[in-house]
Amino acid sequence: MDKYRLRANFDEIVWRVEKARIERSEHHIVHIVTISKYVTPAEVALLYELGQRAFGENRVQELHHKVEALEELPIEWHFVGRLQKNKINRLIDLDPWLIHSLDSLELAKELDKRLAAKGKKVSALLQINSAREPTKAGVSPEEAYDTYLRIIEETAHIDLQGVMSIGAHTEDTKRIEESFQTTYKIYEALKPHGATLCSMGMSNDFELAIRCGSNMVRIGSLFFK
Ligand SMILES: *Cc1c(COP(=O)(O)O)cnc(C)c1O
Repeated sequence: MDKYRLRANFDEIVWRVEKARIERSEHHIVHIVTISKYVTPAEVALLYELGQRAFGENRVQELHHKVEALEELPIEWHFVGRLQKNKINRLIDLDPWLIHSLDSLELAKELDKRLAAKGKKVSALLQINSAREPTKAGVSPEEAYDTYLRIIEETAHIDLQGVMSIGAHTEDTKRIEESFQTTYKIYEALKPHGATLCSMGMSNDFELAIRCGSNMVRIGSLFFK
């Protein structure tokens, strides 16, 4: 993929994010994480040259590959995929900037144990399945608040910074919006407990997510179309 096309896509995304965030509030700042799972390290390096710093992957093995290939660039790496227990150590060793997909107290405790053994800390978000889709990971909206507090109380090496959701998988905008609103309400309730990040919105629904209060979008295909 050439640089000119990437730049045009990047410009379009920044412009659309800007428009959506200003509709919410002039003071509403939105982080853009480029999900690079579709492309090679070469495209990541090009986007880095264009100024992008935050990139995310959904598989530990692919994250490992890109971290190694792009070692010399100070990229902020995010992990957004399902985390299997047997991949936890490998993920910790990659020092991710943020794990978006902590989806149970059990996983948090296991992660905490491995972090303790390595003398490390990690920042993470609690994933909430607000769309209530059986194929999606995440705690249910009902258990999200309590699970969040228990992770804070029962782990010492995880710095919880907020919540993450994937919008409902449907053409029905109303239902997607409801799923974002559900997550945003929980996020607001968790603000007194230190939540500052609400990660919602992908290529097809990021403007809606921002209008619902998202302050971190995860955009993949739109960068690389
Ligand atoms: C792939 C992926 C994205 C990006 O999706 P696009 O529709 O390509 O923007 C965002 N979040 C997660 C968890 C993903 O796996």
